[in-house]
Amino acid sequence: FLKGKTAVVTGSTSGIGLAYARAFAREGATVVINGFGDEAAIEAARAELAGASGADAFYDPADMAKGDEVVGLVERAVERTGRIDVLVNNAGVQHVSPIADFPSEKWDAIIAINLTSCFHTTRAAVPHMRIQGWGRIISTASAHSLVASPNKSAYVAAKHGLIGLTKTVALETAKEGITVNCISPGYVWTPLVENQIPDTMRTRGLTREQVIDDVLLAAQPTKQFVTPEEVAELALFLCRDEAKSITGANLSVDGGWTAT
Ligand code: NAD
Repeated sequence: FLKGKTAVVTGSTSGIGLAYARAFAREGATVVINGFGDEAAIEAARAELAGASGADAFYDPADMAKGDEVVGLVERAVERTGRIDVLVNNAGVQHVSPIADFPSEKWDAIIAINLTSCFHTTRAAVPHMRIQGWGRIISTASAHSLVASPNKSAYVAAKHGLIGLTKTVALETAKEGITVNCISPGYVWTPLVENQIPDTMRTRGLTREQVIDDVLLAAQPTKQFVTPEEVAELALFLCRDEAKSITGANLSVDGGWTAT
C-alpha cells in the first residue's frame, strides 16, 4: 500500500531502523536508509530492500549529529525520488553515567542525534508533505520519554523533548493530511541495548545475567524483550489511511513498563 511513496528512515543500518525499512519496502515503498556501519553490510541491506520493494532503495551516509547533513538527507531524498511521504526519526545513541560524571560532549551528542536531528528532518520534510497533502512523521522515542532511569540524563531529556516536538508539529499540520507521532518501545533486543550491558555491569557492579534480568527487564512486566518487527508493524499501521486520526500521540510498545 506504499507503492509510489518514499520513506526516509534515519539510523536504519541496524536494529529498529532496519526493521522499519524492511516493513516499508515490503509494502512497495522506495526506501532511503541512513546510518553507520560496514560498507558491504549496508550495500547488502540496500539491495535486499530494493529486491523486496521492487522499487529503488538508497543509502545516504548523512551524520545526524550535524544539522546541515541532516537537512541534506531530506533534500537528497526529494532530488532522487521526487518526494518524501514517510519520515522516520530513528537514529539514536545512549550513554550511561551518573550526572556528576556525565561528559558534556556526550550530552551534546545525544541531544544533537536523538532530538535536534528530528527538528531538522521535520522542518525540511513538512513543506514537501504539505504540497502533497499527505505525510507521516514517526519518531522512535522510548519508555524513557515517559519515565526516567538513573544514569541516563541526556537520553531521558532528549526523549522527553521529542514528545514535545511531536505534539507541536502535530498541531501545526493537523488539517493537512499529515500525522506526527512517536512510538515508545521498552527494551528491544538490538545492538544499542547489547552495547550498554558492559557499562551497566561496570557502574552497578553486576554480572551480564543480572543486568539482563534485574536491570534491563526489571521494569518490563512481560519479562521479554520487544522485537524490532513489533515496533515496525505499528509504524506501518500509522501509515495507513485508517490511522489518519492518530496524531500527536506517543504510542507505547513496552510490555507494560509504563503501566507500573
Ligand atoms: P541501534 O544501535 O541498533 O541503531 C541505531 C542506528 O542509528 C544505527 O543505524 C546507527 O548507525 C545509527 N546512528 C547512530 N548515530 C548516528 C548518527 N550520528 N547519524 C546517523 N545515524 C546514526 O539502536 P536501536 O536500538 O535500533 O535504536 C533505534 C532507536 O530506537 C533509537 O532512537 C533508540 O533510542 C530507540 N529505542 C531503542 C530501544 C531499545 O531497547 N533498543 C528502546 C527504546 C527506544
